[in-house]
Amino acid sequence: MIMWRCTCASKHCLASAYTDLLPANPVLKTDHNHCPEPVKLEVDRCRAEMRIRAVASNDPPARIYADNITALTDAAKAILPSVDTCNRTIARNRTHKYPAEPASLANLHIVPPWTHTLGQQQEEFPFFDNGPQNHCLRKENNLRRLAAADKWYMDGNFAMAPPKFLQLYVMHVSLGQVTIPLVYAFLQNKTSNMSRTGHCYTESLCNVRCAT
Ligand SMILES: [Zn+2]
Repeated sequence: MIMWRCTCASKHCLASAYTDLLPANPVLKTDHNHCPEPVKLEVDRCRAEMRIRAVASNDPPARIYADNITALTDAAKAILPSVDTCNRTIARNRTHKYPAEPASLANLHIVPPWTHTLGQQQEEFPFFDNGPQNHCLRKENNLRRLAAADKWYMDGNFAMAPPKFLQLYVMHVSLGQVTIPLVYAFLQNKTSNMSRTGHCYTESLCNVRCAT
């Protein structure tokens, strides 16, 4: 059995009900001290669906927000919290499903499911860890594509670097008219480690070439 209580704390409502575990067939135990608020209920349901999708998917917050407000009435849109508030709620719920931030890189241990790609055919990410400073993440097939390419395109992004790192360094190759990212490196240094990381990549690529 599940007990339910009214969320209108501001009205000092003590209404409660209970259901079975499904939950279905609610039985009212104590009645509300206020009139029904269908618009508020609509907004609460919309925000709950945003939170569920935030946890269940990797969709961008803007898309989750846009998809969920489509069916809202104008009255509900009028009292829905701002876009920024909804996006913060989505991000906050999403952080709960991520591993806790390590105190230091020495305590950084990446465990499943974060060691695998998404999708139905999940592949394990081969990691290349050259010590306490840099971590590289790539798929083995991607490394082979990189080894076969004539040109590499490299791009460093500082804003997207996770905590404890200063840079997300991405290596791309051309595929038709576009470039695709193949290897991701998390760097703790903006400049000096770059050449060292490039050297490590080169070594890995040589190993792949020898194996093929
Ligand atoms: Zn109530």
